[in-house]
Amino acid sequence: MIHKNFIGNQWVGAAAGETVPVVDPSNGQAYAEIARSRRVDIDAAVSAARAAYAGAWGRMAPAARSRLLWRIAAALLDRGDELARIESRDTGKPLRQAKADAAAVARYFEFYAGAVDKLHGETIPYPRDFTVFTVREPHGVTGHIIPWNYPLQIFGRSVGAALAAGNACVVKPAEDACLSLLELAEIAAGVGLPEGALNVCTGLGPEAGADLAAHPGIDHISFTGSPTTGRAVAQAAAAHFAPVTLELGGKSPQIVFSDADIDAALPVLLGAIVQNAGQTCSAGSRLLVQRAIYSDLLGRLGELFEATRTGPASDDPDCGPLINARQLARVRRFLEEAEESPITVVAQGKLDNSAPAAGFYQPPVLLGNVPPAHRLAQEEVFGPVLAAIPFETEAGAIAIANATPFGLVAGIWTQDGGRQMRLARAVRAGQVFVNNYGAGGGVELPFGGTGHSGFGREKGFEAMYGFTTLKTVAIRHGSS
Ligand code: ADP
Repeated sequence: MIHKNFIGNQWVGAAAGETVPVVDPSNGQAYAEIARSRRVDIDAAVSAARAAYAGAWGRMAPAARSRLLWRIAAALLDRGDELARIESRDTGKPLRQAKADAAAVARYFEFYAGAVDKLHGETIPYPRDFTVFTVREPHGVTGHIIPWNYPLQIFGRSVGAALAAGNACVVKPAEDACLSLLELAEIAAGVGLPEGALNVCTGLGPEAGADLAAHPGIDHISFTGSPTTGRAVAQAAAAHFAPVTLELGGKSPQIVFSDADIDAALPVLLGAIVQNAGQTCSAGSRLLVQRAIYSDLLGRLGELFEATRTGPASDDPDCGPLINARQLARVRRFLEEAEESPITVVAQGKLDNSAPAAGFYQPPVLLGNVPPAHRLAQEEVFGPVLAAIPFETEAGAIAIANATPFGLVAGIWTQDGGRQMRLARAVRAGQVFVNNYGAGGGVELPFGGTGHSGFGREKGFEAMYGFTTLKTVAIRHGSS
């Protein structure tokens, strides 16, 4: 089957008729094709969005926009199982994770539906002969470059907020995983989203993605992906002064002190690196453990790693395949470096017999004694590989935690209230979790990074601000 672009509420093939194969990561087989969009196709999508913004969509009253987003949310809940099956096959993620992602995209639409008519400006105290107020206006047409790891969720947090703020959107999903978003666009149109408000164009990053980022008809770009591509997107957007939101991943530390509730921490530490086969921007990929409990904790965590089951997405294993052969090769190159002393392989999960040989499988690996300056402790592996590092003191933990160029998320495990507060303030991160990690997805919680993790905030109400531009109106009316 060939999946076309969704432009102006219609299915439209790429003008040149080119396609890209869609591969199932669980068995390495191609099973569909998507449109390979070029500049002319991106032009068509941007024109449709501009027309929507100038027309029915741009003129819609906030309350009506809110009702529409509620209808989309309800339709996404209704069709959640179908979206989850598409997402699971396309990305290789275990079915229950895909179901959680489908529930999350509906939840994003609920949250932003409720926020639409609460996006107030302010009045500003000024001399009596003036009235000054601010208005939050949409940027206009926003571009969204989505990665392959969580298409549904990242669409929700980015496009949900942008639509709520009144923008018309052009979405470029990743070539490795875009089928759920094509389906979603049709669902949104089916419940009444005006034509052109939401357009989805598939294709290759350096072609369709680059064309979208460089397009002068795009007023804001939000990008989630690797730092290298994020830099290219920001440079392309800079040529026409479009603001960007960049979410570029991390090397997020989980810091476990000797007074922590280890029983509570263990399953969370495991989940934070095994979820989505470690292909999560906010994966807890560094484990900093206080020396006194280091070998005990690693022994117990190692047992959990060994008990994990890796296999095809449809079997709903603990860990599915990686997205593609390139990503698998990249993770394996990192693991070859783990053969260097003093790093030890503490534990490794098992591959199910049911896993086809042509699938892209890497069972979870727990590495011990990783030197803080080693590539495995510095760079994002984007696979199920956890690098454990011992530390001695609170100051030492902070120094190691902050010694990467990233700053996305941090987890702190301690019962000491003072230490919780000190660490929460001292670690460089956009989100800090104390005695938990990820807080159940946190649609309401502003999310984003510092340093090489990017800038701008998604999720929560903050995202709405990011998708607006602030206008200040000063009226000099004289005083009575
Ligand atoms: P990966 O290399 O793991 O696929 P990327 O950060 O390159 O991660 O991809 C994230 C998203 O960015 C995808 O939608 C991809 O198509 C897109 N992309 C890749 N290269 C470019 C580029 N040069 N300009 C714009 N988008 C791009």
